[in-house]
Order: sequence, then structure tokens, then C-alpha cells
Amino acid sequence: MHFFLYLFCFSFTVSLFAQTATHFVIPPFQPAPDRQLQFPLKTESMIYSDSLVAIAKENIQQYPAAKAIKDHIVQAADKWFTFSDEELTVLMSDARVPRAFDLCAKGCPVHGDTVFKIGGFYPWIIDLKHPFQVRCPVDGQVFPSAEYPDDGWGWISPDGERYWFVAYANHWTWYDHIIPGILNLARAYLLTDDNRYATQAAYMLYRMASVYPSMNHEDQSRYGLMSKSRGERYTGKIVNHIWETNVIEQAAEAYDLVWKTIDTDRYLQKRTGKTGKELRTFIEANILEDGLDAFNDDKIIANFGRHQSVLITVHLSRQHAEMEKAFDKIIHEPSSVAGKNGLIYAAYNQIFRDGIPFESPGYNAGWLTSFMEIAGKLPAENRGLLTNFRFKQIFDWPLDMVAIGKYTPDIGDSGSTLGGLAARSSAIYHPAYDLYHDPRYLPWLNLSGEKSFNSFYALFRRPLPDFPVLKDSRAVDVQPSRLFAGYGFGILNNRTDETAIALTYDIHYAHDHWDYLNFEVFANGQKMMPDLGYPDAMNDFVAEKFTWSINTVSHNTVVVDQKRQQRKLPGTLHDFADGGFARTMDASSPPYENTSEYRRNIVMVDTEDGQSYAVDFFNVCGGTRHDYFLHGPPGKTFCAADEWNDILPGTFAGPTVETGYLYDDEKLLLQGKQIGYGSYCGSGFQHLFHVQNLKSGKGILEYRHINDEDARLRIFPLPSEKQEIFIADAYDKPRAKNHLIKYLICTGKTDGDAPLKSTFVSVLEPYKGEKHTLKEARSEKPDRGNGHVVVVERGDYTDVIIYDPVGSTKTLNRYKLQTDAVSTVATFDPSGKLTRVFFSCGSYLHCQGKKFTAEPIAGKVISVDALKRTLQVELETQNPKLETPLVAHFTNAFRTTVHPLSSVNVSGKISDIKVKDDFLTGYFRIEEVEGNILKTATALPFYRQYTGATILDQNYRPLALLAESKKDELKLNEPVAFALKPGDTAWICNIGCGDEFLIKPVFTWEESTK
Ligand SMILES: [Zn+2]
Ligand SMILES: [Zn+2]
Repeated sequence: MHFFLYLFCFSFTVSLFAQTATHFVIPPFQPAPDRQLQFPLKTESMIYSDSLVAIAKENIQQYPAAKAIKDHIVQAADKWFTFSDEELTVLMSDARVPRAFDLCAKGCPVHGDTVFKIGGFYPWIIDLKHPFQVRCPVDGQVFPSAEYPDDGWGWISPDGERYWFVAYANHWTWYDHIIPGILNLARAYLLTDDNRYATQAAYMLYRMASVYPSMNHEDQSRYGLMSKSRGERYTGKIVNHIWETNVIEQAAEAYDLVWKTIDTDRYLQKRTGKTGKELRTFIEANILEDGLDAFNDDKIIANFGRHQSVLITVHLSRQHAEMEKAFDKIIHEPSSVAGKNGLIYAAYNQIFRDGIPFESPGYNAGWLTSFMEIAGKLPAENRGLLTNFRFKQIFDWPLDMVAIGKYTPDIGDSGSTLGGLAARSSAIYHPAYDLYHDPRYLPWLNLSGEKSFNSFYALFRRPLPDFPVLKDSRAVDVQPSRLFAGYGFGILNNRTDETAIALTYDIHYAHDHWDYLNFEVFANGQKMMPDLGYPDAMNDFVAEKFTWSINTVSHNTVVVDQKRQQRKLPGTLHDFADGGFARTMDASSPPYENTSEYRRNIVMVDTEDGQSYAVDFFNVCGGTRHDYFLHGPPGKTFCAADEWNDILPGTFAGPTVETGYLYDDEKLLLQGKQIGYGSYCGSGFQHLFHVQNLKSGKGILEYRHINDEDARLRIFPLPSEKQEIFIADAYDKPRAKNHLIKYLICTGKTDGDAPLKSTFVSVLEPYKGEKHTLKEARSEKPDRGNGHVVVVERGDYTDVIIYDPVGSTKTLNRYKLQTDAVSTVATFDPSGKLTRVFFSCGSYLHCQGKKFTAEPIAGKVISVDALKRTLQVELETQNPKLETPLVAHFTNAFRTTVHPLSSVNVSGKISDIKVKDDFLTGYFRIEEVEGNILKTATALPFYRQYTGATILDQNYRPLALLAESKKDELKLNEPVAFALKPGDTAWICNIGCGDEFLIKPVFTWEESTK
């Protein structure tokens, strides 16, 4: 359900807010002549094989839920026998009657926007027995009327606003009733073998065929004319180009189901005055072939995946319109437009090496639905690619990504402040289970037996088997800390996977936010430090989308110089290690041009009573002002009243700046309503109101989650002397105002010329009910060496957490501790005795006479098997000690990259390694070879991340390193040893022979307890 919302939101929300033009030039109607058949007539039913239909009929007999689906379809189909042919001819109006998915942005001429409050986005009531009329949901008033006449192009109000009564009724009659009606009739025939349904479906297809070629949305619709008046095109056929995919898909499926009845259907032939063959010719030419041409003319376009899926259906239905060639293109043909890349190209060029597509998780879920649709439709001989590792990965990431068994991290335009799960859909995972038999998919789906039947498509599958239920109604079982190095994102969690932190550090390519180094905290069954998820509106003309929702300011990260982040460049993972009771994720990103350092390390520490807290270190260098933002969940917040000054006037943007006022972009302030707010790169500080600054004390904030009073969080800010602390309120969505959220802001400023250098430190403690364990947290400096020390008193125990990005030798006299590690956690019992040690990226830790050491595992890659995802490393040391490393770093002259590891085996000086993700990160066709330069026309959206990778030929043979990668040009660091020619394909492999291999040293020790 969500997926469709995402898909179509772009078109519908724009319409609500961005329309003013009322003076249109109405283009003269241009009828298209009936079409001539281009290809031999169809000879076989292609979409549901006899064996699939047999399964459906068995299921209907055996399972009441399956029968209910059939009954529902039959009922919906029966309705169409109440319409005479004359009535249908009127309802299925020809192209001269305009279409409008929205009636008027202002709502009703009588009741204004109250109609939206009562009826939602598309509030008007339609009655098929009264064509071209709408009824107001407020009082039932009917439009048009004598007072509100409408010839199809709308009624113009005295204030110049156009109300499209007729066009609205016409649009929704086609889109919500006629087209689904044809499909229901055809499906009712499929499931009952009752010819009456086939006759009525075929009759309506015949009527559709007689009007379809003249349908041209850009000249015949409200939005088409509005776009034209702005000099833009808004293409489509009956409806807009995106929604038209649903029209053509349903018509094509319906025809495939009923075509074979037409030749023997005397009644139909009499009604239409055509022979069976004439009728088939008429429908195949005027709907299916016309539809295929509409794909070529960009009158039917959808998002990647969905586009291909519908195109396949139309080809299957039409059968002889060069179907094999089309399928080959859909799978194997590269394109310079990413959305039209063949599947095998898209799988590597638009999907990261951990299987995650390049959008937000919510939108990525749409890819899975489409991929499954495609898999279900392609003839068996084209399905080979599904057994490929990459395709299985595509279905695994939504489960792998789930934090604490309950939430998909809401990265970019995805989810909400309270959170939920992306891609948990039976349309994806029922067929995925049938394909891969992965038992993890069963609890994820949480459907078995009778419950498997929740859609028409489910009828064609065997019911899902029973499965053991996971505890605490988790959607996936307990998982260890894990890194998605392609998507640039990691999840740290405790052993029971009940507390987790997700941090994002790399580029995403669509529906992303300016959220580099943002994190979310999950604990107590809730999102405790949530991303705010899907924006207020998916609409360029809503300022709040840009000034707040996708802006850096609303996230748990740092704003530099009162500007949102500016650049999308690859991030760097410095460390990702889990030591059992403590763990760390250390990453940096270059989103600001003027910062030389923008780096965050989150260290998570478990306590003896089963809880976990985190210490957040954020280092920034550059610019003159840094604002570090943190926020908890919606719900109650508490702070010590006497610690804070009175509420300051205005907003965080200044005492005179009112809430939401666009104070830092004069151009958009004046013209945003016309040109859209997409170019905003200001602070967004105007959304933070009720600003208070810390007068004295510690500034500890406590949050209680709105969904569970006992789900709590405390934030302990640990500012340096020069930093100022504020709290302020903001709405998660400034327009919808769903939830009020308390922000904690730590600000550092400089007046000097030297770039400002800040370290922001805070302790984050989620806990349940009254059971908080932290007594005190304070910041200290080492007695010798660099880095930040945080001391956490937990009553009985004391934890010392150190972060020192340069890994200097540090001494803490009070604890008799010395180490050269980057991240350190040491725990002392009430008597001051050392009880636990974790350190990472360091060679030793000495404390109270105990000496702990760790060694890196280093070497050189000597062979890579890109298909098996294995490599061999020649190690620098013989049989090094192996803990269970999570990740390995690979470095060459151009860059360092990281892979999560699946297994590491050492034998003497050779180590055999298998990675969790994929080595292959790109696939392209060579158009030209010029010395060291390979030119390509294949869309390679990830090109910024290719420098330093290795080019392989089509047989996975390594050629050379990539010294420089541009959009359409890949420069090798040396001439290739054997000839490459235009037309050859080549792979981009993330790892090459000669790359330096490194597993950073990590060490854990816990005193054994009885
Ligand atoms: Zn009204
Ligand atoms: Zn976000």
C-alpha cells in the first residue's frame, strides 16, 4: 500500500499546491485515425499458464480465504452487467472529454478546502449512473449545475479559479472504475469459466480501443494545460504518463485472459458489428500496439522496475510484437538513462554491493515489488538471473537492515518519526519464498496457510508453510552488529539486539536527505532518537520540505556556518568493531567544502543489567560556527528548570525571526512560490522555537516516548568551555505538526581567522522505566597524549571511554591506564579494579599491571574471485591471532574501501577470505577505447565511487586499476595488456590484486564472573 503512495505522490501532491494559471489556450482536438495492425495476431495466452490457473482453482476450493478473493472479484465484475452498451459508450468517453485528477486546489466553490479535510486528497464523490458529475462530500451538492456550468474545460469562478467538475469525474471514472472493471470481468472469467464475463470484458476493450489512439494527456487535461502554460510537457494517454502504466497493464492483462473467447462469441460480434478476427485486430492494434508506441513516445513512463514490469505485460499480451527482442533489451541492453538500463546493468549500477538500491529504504521497497513482478512474468528461459547472488541480496537487505527486530532505519524519504518496517510485503516475499525457500522470509511475512491468501496474485501460489514465531513479535531474529559498506551505513547493537544505533555516512542517489553522519537510536522497542522520516510534502513548492525535512538541521548531526550540508561525496569508514560488551563505529564524510574534518565516532557500551548506552564524539574542523543537534522521541521531556534561562524571543535563527520565516534566502522568500524551494541551502534554524540556553548545571534532558512512558532516554551533553548549550522545540513536520520534538543544541563559534575546531561529546542513555543506571558523566583530558576522555559513573562501576582519532600514546594517571588505541572502553569495579577492556585500532592497553595487546592483520591481495566473492591475501605475519573481525580495509594508491567479512581462514602466511557483500560494483558497455580511456554510454550513477577499483573484462579477468572515473569516461592507470574493443562489456570490481589488506586490531577482555 505504501509503495503506491510513494510512487504516485510526486504527481498528486504537486497538483495541490502549485497551480495558479487559469488562462489556458485550449488546443484543438486532434483525432488519431484507427490504427493498422503492425504484427501478426496473438495466438496464445501468455500471462497465466494452465498450471497456474489449476493451482488457483485448487486454492479456491480448499481455502475459504482464497474463495473470498474470487467472490470479491466476481461481485465487482457483476456490477458491469447493469450498464447498457449505450451507457458504457457515454462513460467510456472519447478523447474530447478532458481529464483532471484534481478538481481545483481551492477545493469546492462552496466549501473551500473543507472538502479535503472530509474526503482526503481526492474527495469528490462519483456516481457512474450520473456521468460527468461530482458530488461534494460536505453536503452532497452536485456539480456542474445551472449555477456552475462546465463544458468539460472547467467552470471559472469570479476570482479566476478554474473548477474542473467534468474532467475530474471523467478521470476517476476511467481510472477507478472502467479500467479496473475490465480487469475484474476478465479475472472473473478466468476463475469461473463463465463466458458472460469474457463477453463484457471484450466489449469494454472494444470500446476502449475505439477511443484510445486519440488519447493524449498533455493536450486534453487540466494538468497538461497547466504545464503547457509554464512551458512544460505533461504527457500521458487517458491519464498521466505514470498512472497510465496501470491503465495499459490492466487492459493488457484483461485481453490476454479473454482474447480466445472472441472468435466464438456471436453475441459480442453482433453487438460490435465485427467478426472475431476483426475485433481481435481492432483491440490488438488500437490498445496494445498503440500502448507499446506510447512507451516509445514517453507517454507511458514509470519508475525503474515498474516501467519494465508493465512493458513486459503489454508484450506478453500482444505476444508477437517482437517480444523476445523487447525482453532481451529489458534484461541485457545498457542505456544512458539509468531508468532504462537493462536489469543486469541496473543490478550493479543502481544497486549497491550490499544489494540495496540507491534510494531511501521506502522507495527501495518499490524496486523489490517490481523485481518480483518482473520475475513472475518473464518466461522461464529469462529467469536465470534470479539465481545470481546479487538478486538474492536484493531481497535480503530489508531484513538485514531491521534494527531491534522492529524498525527499518528511516534514511531519507522513508518512514516516520515513530517508525515502521519497509518492504514487509507478501507481494514481494511470498514469491521470494517460493523462489529461494529462505526460512527467514516466513516470520518476516508473518503469514501462513489460509492467511497467505491476501491478494489475487496469491491465488496462483501454494500457501506459505507454518513457521516458529519469533519472540517479542520481532520481524527478524536477533542479528549481530553489521555494516552495509555499499549503502554507507552501519548498525551497532548489543548482544540481545534490543538496543541499536544506525549511522549513515555515504552517498545515496534519490530521495536522500542532507543527513551525512546522522544516526538513529533504537531501544525499549521504540525509535528513541528518531529520524523524522518522510517529509512534510513531496512537493517542490512546499518550503518546509527543504528548510526542515530534508535539511541537515532536523537530523542528529552538525550544521556548519548555518548552512545545510552542501556536497555529496563518498564517505570514509575508519572503524567498525564489536567487542562483545562494547563496540564502535567511526566514520567521516566531506559534506562541507570548508571543513577539513567532519567525523563521528559512536561508542556503545553494555551495562551489567542488560542495558546499553552510547558515547557520541563528533569532531569538526573548519568554518566559524558549528551547531551540534540531537533530539529524542516525541513525548514528554524533562529538564531541571533552574538550569535554564527564560525562553528567548523569536527562533534559533534570531530574536526577530519568527517560526518558519525564510530569513536567510531573500530570493526564495520572494519567488519560492513560483520557482519552488529546491535551491534552499540555508540553516533551517527558523523552525526551532522556545529557545532556552543553559544558565548553569549539566543540561541533562530526559525523554519519555509518546507510545510508551517507560521507554526513556537521557542525553548528557558534555560541552567544552567554549561551547554553549541550548534547547528548543520543533515540529517533526512543520506543516502537519504531527509531533513536537525537543532539540538539544551545542554551539561553538569563533571570531578569529583560524578555522574553528570543535569536538562535541554527549552520552546517550536509553533505559526502561525508572531503571536508569548512569549516575554521572564527565569529560576529561588524558594526562599525556591526545583525545577525549569520558568518565561514566554507574554507581557500582565506572567506565572510562576514550576517543583519539590519531591514536597517540595516552596516559590516564588516575586509572593507571596507558594505550595507543583510537577507541577505548575500560570498566572499573567499586574497588577501582579493572574488570573489562575493549580497544580498537591500537596495539596495546596497559592498566594496573595488566598488559593487553592486539595486532593488525595486514597483507596484500594476491587473487580475487569476483564471482565467488573470495580473495586470497599474502599476510605480513605467520598465523596471526584471529578474533572475529567484522570488516577489512583495502587500500591502493587511489583510495581505501571496506568490505564486511563472511569468513577468514588463515594457513601460514596465506589467508582465504570471503566477503559478505559483492565485489562487483558496476557493469558497462565500452563504446570507444582511446589509449587508457574507456568511453561508455551506459548510465553509471556510482561513478564517483569507482576511482581505485579494478576493471575486469567480460570474463572477470582483471585489466587495470581505475585512476579516474567520470560519468562516461573511465581512465585506467596503465594500458591494458590485451585488446578491448567497442561493444565489449566490462565489470567494475571493488577489489584488485595488489590492494593492501588490513584488519584493524581490536581487543576485548572481560573478567570471568562466577
Ligand atoms: Zn462543497
Ligand atoms: Zn532524514
